[in-house]
Amino acid sequence: KQPRVAVIGAGMAGLACAERLLAQGWPVTVFDKGRGPGGRMATRRVTVPSGTGPSGTENGSAADVTLRFDHGAQYFTARDPRFRARVDDWIAVGAAAPWTGGIVRLTRDGAIEHSPGERFVGIPGMSGPTRLLADTTRPRSGIRVAEVTAGEDGWRLRDEKGIDLGEYDRVAVAVPSPQAVPLLAESPDLAYRAASAVMAGCWAVMARFDRPLDIPHDGAFVVGSPLSWIARDSSKPGRASQVGETWVLHGSPEWSEAHIEDQAGDVANRLLEAFRAIAGAAVPEPSHLAAHRWRFSIPTRGIDTECLYDPERGLGACGDWCLGGRVEGAFLSGLALAERMIGAG
Ligand code: FAD
Repeated sequence: KQPRVAVIGAGMAGLACAERLLAQGWPVTVFDKGRGPGGRMATRRVTVPSGTGPSGTENGSAADVTLRFDHGAQYFTARDPRFRARVDDWIAVGAAAPWTGGIVRLTRDGAIEHSPGERFVGIPGMSGPTRLLADTTRPRSGIRVAEVTAGEDGWRLRDEKGIDLGEYDRVAVAVPSPQAVPLLAESPDLAYRAASAVMAGCWAVMARFDRPLDIPHDGAFVVGSPLSWIARDSSKPGRASQVGETWVLHGSPEWSEAHIEDQAGDVANRLLEAFRAIAGAAVPEPSHLAAHRWRFSIPTRGIDTECLYDPERGLGACGDWCLGGRVEGAFLSGLALAERMIGAG
């Protein structure tokens, strides 16, 4: 009889893990607390009046446009051949594409350095690839796993109301490290190692301008500012139907952490000001402005191991905080945990 597996978290790591286990013929149930899969590979949709668009009216809903913002992960790299092969599959079915926008580094002394490299994005938004993985792994959304305890015949999972989510032979915890720690409590060694990772918050601002901004690059890493990254989101492939331009601005880990409890509206205005300081007079009033808080955005200290697994107990963890702090690392970490589980039987 094949072991029953519960995967907690339907981000890139959990979905990659679940997909590999399913391919092995193991029964897998994936849980996610979010409304949909993808985790930090996220796309925010907002419907707004079309403004100065071609058929623009002030209040006619026929003229409304839906904007999409990649407010989490911005793009991904694919250096490992196993991940690269999957990215090629996603490109072939239209769920990802190379982003050839001009990306630069703005240095402290005002110089602009080209930042070359092959970068990919999801289509139609960053959640494209995780949505595809979810087609086969079928995560159960809107369920927050609060407890993983040793039951009579394996691991028993419960949600925050104490509702029983079933019993499983193996559990893969695929959530950000601070959220993984309590779920790994039955294996103090794993919990301790997860607790040694550090993840920083990030404020993400989404802005739409009715006319193109006179900024020569599509993305820039920034230093010496409350911002660490600015991007012309609408320059990414598959986003062409947008009217005007959409931009995503990320607060630096230091600034975001210092302002993590601030009001979203204040944060949006402060980071827009910082954007103006970088871009100069080129930035008019946005016709849409919003901020999203990521409590755990990227690991500032990872644990430098592919994944965590206790083969005696069948409990493990994976995620970007194990391996490299990126989409690619999350995928490889999820795959590594699945291989460890399969290898241990
Ligand atoms: P997540 O995507 O966080 O998935 C974890 C999932 O677990 C979530 O869906 C969550 O809802 C769920 N969950 C949590 N707790 C529970 C629970 N108790 N019960 C059930 N479900 C639960 N990476 C790059 O490669 N390039 C970039 O440019 C880049 N930029 C980034 C910018 C920002 C602002 C952020 C936030 C991230 C960025 N990243 C980037 C990092 C990238 O998004 C992550 O490395 C990757 O998506 C992590 O995948 P994951 O599966 O490990 O975790």
